[in-house]
Amino acid sequence: MIQPAKSNPISQSAHQERQILTDKSSHSAFWLHLERALEVRRTQGLHRQCAISHPLGPTTISRNGVVAINFGANDYFGLSWHPDVRRAAFESTQLKNFGSGASPLVSGHTPEHSKLVCAIADFEETENAIVFSSGYAANVGTVAALASKEDVIFSDSLNHASLIDGCRLSRSQIVIYPHCDMAALRELIRQYRHRGRFAFIASDSVFSMDGDLAPLLEINAFCHEFDMQCLLDEAHATGVYGTNGRGLAEHVGASRERIVSVGTLSKALGCVGGFVAGPSVLIEWLTNHARSFVYSTASTIPNVAAACKAISLIRGMRSERIELARKAVGLRSSLAGLGFEVGRGDSPIVPVYISDARRVMELSNRLLQAGVFVPAIRPPTVPENRSLLRISLSIEHTAEEIGRLVEALASAG
Ligand code: PMP
Repeated sequence: MIQPAKSNPISQSAHQERQILTDKSSHSAFWLHLERALEVRRTQGLHRQCAISHPLGPTTISRNGVVAINFGANDYFGLSWHPDVRRAAFESTQLKNFGSGASPLVSGHTPEHSKLVCAIADFEETENAIVFSSGYAANVGTVAALASKEDVIFSDSLNHASLIDGCRLSRSQIVIYPHCDMAALRELIRQYRHRGRFAFIASDSVFSMDGDLAPLLEINAFCHEFDMQCLLDEAHATGVYGTNGRGLAEHVGASRERIVSVGTLSKALGCVGGFVAGPSVLIEWLTNHARSFVYSTASTIPNVAAACKAISLIRGMRSERIELARKAVGLRSSLAGLGFEVGRGDSPIVPVYISDARRVMELSNRLLQAGVFVPAIRPPTVPENRSLLRISLSIEHTAEEIGRLVEALASAG
């Protein structure tokens, strides 16, 4: 018989242990170190915590109880709200288990996962594909599986954390080049290429905080000229760029021979996950060596069913892609007209540079009180003095909602 917790000696001692950990008088140097470092973060205006975000519709959110227009989601086409996507997830739960139960190589690769792999390979027009439980896992696992300590990786200074962590895990020599600076990259390649058996250029295609685009044709030309591979994170380009929505490589017509591209299911596709699509040899290698694939439970079945549906929809959304770019260009020009420093281009990530971390938090809070949610982005996500308000546009935002954002920024900023 299971004893009640009170008289269970094991649970009692665990309880005492917990009390010791939370009793301030007996704090060890380690816990004090954490507390003090957190206090420093607070005083610098860099402390973070989760607010309760309750999405109410494709463009509306309640944040800690305040209802606002949502400019803080990467759901660029509102697909996470699309009835067919939600139905696919719902229907799968009627017939199947929810969680996959195991990692893909054990027993987690269900017929639904197999269908998604085929859908991605078909969408990307590649021989095969592999699905990871997140975009983060896809980048970390892919970079670390492909590069090793005999190799060298040239990495853009503003790359996403998952590419950076993949580079670190690979134990390759890492050469960081100034953001999108192709002259500097060429010079660094000239100096360091010979140090690596194989060499890679790692770059986001759409930079996640600044919303600008990598000079992919030049990067690709370097890869051909210096015998290198490009590790391209298409997270924010999947679905958004390219005639068929395959990403920036498709958009600029880059040859794919030297590109290993990672896409996500988590942003424009409105689901969760990451993927690599490419030749069979690449997928076979990752299936055997990408640790975040091999040692992690496969995605839930409703998520996989929803992602399959989202992929079938995104391909044909050409006019929506054009419309989204038009909205992004229009918003940039309105904000620039008001004197804000905004990035250039047509991506749906529109940064408003504020530089000071405290000020950007204040502005974000003021906007929320005015009924507009725009997240504040501070170091270490962005470099020092490069804090920004990060506006994510969706095709679902109406002209009126965008107008309210511009008005709120005009009066708050
Ligand atoms: N790459 C980039 C450029 C991203 O912005 C993100 C998400 N912030 C990821 C990868 C990770 O994707 P996921 O959210 O699916 O883990």
